[in-house]
Amino acid sequence: ISQAAAAARVPPVSETETRTIFDKIIAKEIPSTVVYEDDAVLAFRDISPQAPVHVLVIPKSRDGLTELGKAGKRHEEILGRLLHAAKMVAEKEGILEGFRVVINSGPSACQSVYHLHLHVLGGRQMKWPPG
Ligand code: 5GP
Repeated sequence: ISQAAAAARVPPVSETETRTIFDKIIAKEIPSTVVYEDDAVLAFRDISPQAPVHVLVIPKSRDGLTELGKAGKRHEEILGRLLHAAKMVAEKEGILEGFRVVINSGPSACQSVYHLHLHVLGGRQMKWPPG
């Protein structure tokens, strides 16, 4: 078969457990500015901020959570911890008065890194609806 046909057979990254850029950030192989960290969660500044505060909150262990759409019962605890960490980030960053938490899940939502992450955005007036 042709190379193009072979490429077309490659499953979407969301169905794989390949390493992402976030695994390299967790392993400190590439630098990031950490805002909050505990045993299960890492929060660091987005490289391309969309607001004065733009922090990504991720589970240190992906455990199949490439995207929110893949979450199962076993992920309930980490999902709660991620949301709580988002609040801790907002508190640390001084934006508790108003902030937004976004999860892009899947291609139609423009997810680009397939390791579940929460965007914590604030420090400016947010608009609704989002694009
Ligand atoms: P998504 O589009 O998947 O919801 O969000 C992925 C986010 O990761 C984007 O906002 C993008 O700017 C951010 N990002 C991608 N690569 C890096 C990186 O190497 N370092 C940091 N800090 N953020 C990254």
